[in-house]
Amino acid sequence: MKRTGYLIDLDGTMYRGTQIIEGAKIWIDWLLEHDVPFLFLTNNSGRTPVQAAQHMLNIGYQGIEPRHFYTSAMAASDTMIRRFPEKKRALMIGADGLQEALENNGYQLVDHDADLVFVGLDKQGNWQKYSQALREVLKGAILVGTNNDRILLSEEGANCGNGSVVALMEYASSREAVKIGKPHEAIVTGALRQLGMSREEVVIVGDNMETDILCGVNAGIKTILVTTGVHTRQQAMAYPFAADHIIEDLRELIDEGGEAYRAFRMDPAGRTDSLRLP
Ligand SMILES: [Mg+2]
Repeated sequence: MKRTGYLIDLDGTMYRGTQIIEGAKIWIDWLLEHDVPFLFLTNNSGRTPVQAAQHMLNIGYQGIEPRHFYTSAMAASDTMIRRFPEKKRALMIGADGLQEALENNGYQLVDHDADLVFVGLDKQGNWQKYSQALREVLKGAILVGTNNDRILLSEEGANCGNGSVVALMEYASSREAVKIGKPHEAIVTGALRQLGMSREEVVIVGDNMETDILCGVNAGIKTILVTTGVHTRQQAMAYPFAADHIIEDLRELIDEGGEAYRAFRMDPAGRTDSLRLP
């Protein structure tokens, strides 16, 4: 039987802030126990895989390791080093996750004469830093945004997401940034390479139509929307594109007799039509 791998969102899918989602933990325990390949695919560029794994262990997950994460920072670094292997001087706006991802690919972090300007979430970002980065872009450095999320939610409410800062840099420089994170394809390409699987072999699981599900649509990968986060079933139905499957709880993917499980394993032609709920 063909094996399915999973590319899984974090916030709203695995947890809400520091609150674990129970059904998600039970499903992840099952994936680990049955040695099912998966990667957490996150637009969050701030955490390193070690920090991201620690966060999940802190809120109650077990058996999660750094190798289970593929972040927009890693995707940005991997994409650009493959595209421009000779361009090694990088100016970075970002935090630990982006710094580690760049250093792992041999980038030299610089303030001047940069080949590339990487923009990831930096909660200490300020006018001086943005202006320094802008000057490098105006001199010809390639602008790269790790992700284009408009808003970052926290307990206080809405905060400027990294995409808002990328948009600021695009507006100031009149250049378009290279797009990496969900819903763009680059992050999926990198994740599949890390997982050693093809598009046909994986399913994207997430709570957000505009990032997770659209990412699957853009990349030609099957999708499952779980309604534990941003979008309800009703909201999902109003979009011009559709998730292949909508479920309320990730436990639905465990039961070997369950509808979702059957749908993904018994469709020999790999058609998506048969996966849609009536
Ligand atoms: Mg999410």
